[in-house]
Amino acid sequence: MIQETLPSEVMFEQESARLAALYATGILDTPPDSAFDAITRLAAKHFHADAALIGFADETRFWVKSHWGEVLREVPRQGSLFELALAHDAACQIPNLTEWADSHGCWRHVPVRDFASAAIVPVRSQDGLVLGSLTILCRQAGRALSPSELQTLENMAEMASAQVELQRLKRITARQQTRRAEAARKSTANWPRGADLRRALERREFVLHYQPEVDLASRRIVGLEALIRWRHPERGLIPPMDFIPAAEETGMILPIGDWGLAEACSQIRLWREEDPRHASLRVAVNLSARQFLREGLADHVDSLLQQSGTSSRQLGLEMTESSLIPNVHTALEVLAGLHTLGISLSMDDFGTGYSSLSNLHSFPFDVLKIDRSFIGRMTDGDQPLQIVRTIIELARVLNMDVVAEGIETREQYTLLRQMGCRYGQGFLFAKPLPAEDVSQLLRLPGRVLPDPNAAPSYLA
Ligand code: C2E
Ligand code: MG
Ligand code: MG
Repeated sequence: MIQETLPSEVMFEQESARLAALYATGILDTPPDSAFDAITRLAAKHFHADAALIGFADETRFWVKSHWGEVLREVPRQGSLFELALAHDAACQIPNLTEWADSHGCWRHVPVRDFASAAIVPVRSQDGLVLGSLTILCRQAGRALSPSELQTLENMAEMASAQVELQRLKRITARQQTRRAEAARKSTANWPRGADLRRALERREFVLHYQPEVDLASRRIVGLEALIRWRHPERGLIPPMDFIPAAEETGMILPIGDWGLAEACSQIRLWREEDPRHASLRVAVNLSARQFLREGLADHVDSLLQQSGTSSRQLGLEMTESSLIPNVHTALEVLAGLHTLGISLSMDDFGTGYSSLSNLHSFPFDVLKIDRSFIGRMTDGDQPLQIVRTIIELARVLNMDVVAEGIETREQYTLLRQMGCRYGQGFLFAKPLPAEDVSQLLRLPGRVLPDPNAAPSYLA
């Protein structure tokens, strides 16, 4: 669509709702953010544009959050390209910027002077209000995007919207996590100590349970996530969140993690011996920050694979963004080493970390796991649904597989399939189970789990 006019007025009421939504995001006057840079870089590269920018506009300013190809800056809102997107409430194209600017006489101060064509799409709030815009600029005149290209640009603007929303949710999640961590710290009152964990390891009290990951269309088990538990002689089965933090603090996570990796590798071999077709099954092991930043992790994993006669294709490693952040440079090297071995790498709990998009773009992850807090809220309204949709789209653009975590209801299952999410895991299909119980599930014809809409799920 080529826009020829710049409507003169934006309705006052709409504008106040828009500004209220904008201020609620807390996005204005914040420092540069590499997550938005990832989007402008992606847009510029994808469309072979000479510049790309994302900005948000209050009453008077168009505040540039990320400008690929130039420095960040703030420009007067009046007469900016943003106003065009706002007035039309839709994507706009200007194949001949100079001619168009001359005829409207209001573009001189906008940072588009050096360019000959532009395409601009609104960046919206979760309620659909236009908060800002994503623009691509080309030196070549006459450049016009096809409808499908324009749709891709709109998808990228949606990523920016999702990023704004993710940051808002992260602030809420961070506050909740701090409260929970504080409560956990008080309730465990220094238990367990390093010595308790060491004794548990010696007495072989740790055990791995495995939760199936399924192809949502066929319900075939494509993989398993190994989840550690502590079978305590007096306290019963203890979940990981009650001892992993202490294990990290005391350094016991290293020997416990080694045990977990070795145990998973030997279980992979046992399942393959039970049925050679299980060679297509991938078992994912969780790594914590401390394990991840250990010297020579890739060599260590390689030797474990060799000792157990396991193919690297059958092993996956999961890590959260927060474990990568403290030392991004080392993280990049370690990930590259693991990737070279052929191990699949998953970013766990996506959306809860610090700066999702920037890391996702630069790290060699194969799989993105959508945090279960997003799946859990999916049926609460349009907003969370839109976030999940955008994360799925983001994974598609970045050529990654996507796994939805924590699917508990049929409604979530149906919605995820409709949105094109390929894989999932959750109590609806199966809880984490001991290896013997998983062996039974693996014997189901084609490893296909029963339809949860038709039969009871495999609850432990
Ligand atoms: P995670 O890697 O995100 O694992 C998924 C968690 O979600 C598991 O909790 C699983 O039981 C739970 N879950 C799966 N489906 C559903 C569902 O439908 N509804 C609900 N409400 N929950 C579901 P779990 O086993 O308690 O593990 C918690 C976390 O502990 C894991 O989160 C992971 O970060 C960590 N962890 C587990 N095993 C290990 C390990 O061997 N090493 C390390 N370093 N961390 C581990
Ligand atoms: Mg995990
Ligand atoms: Mg997770």
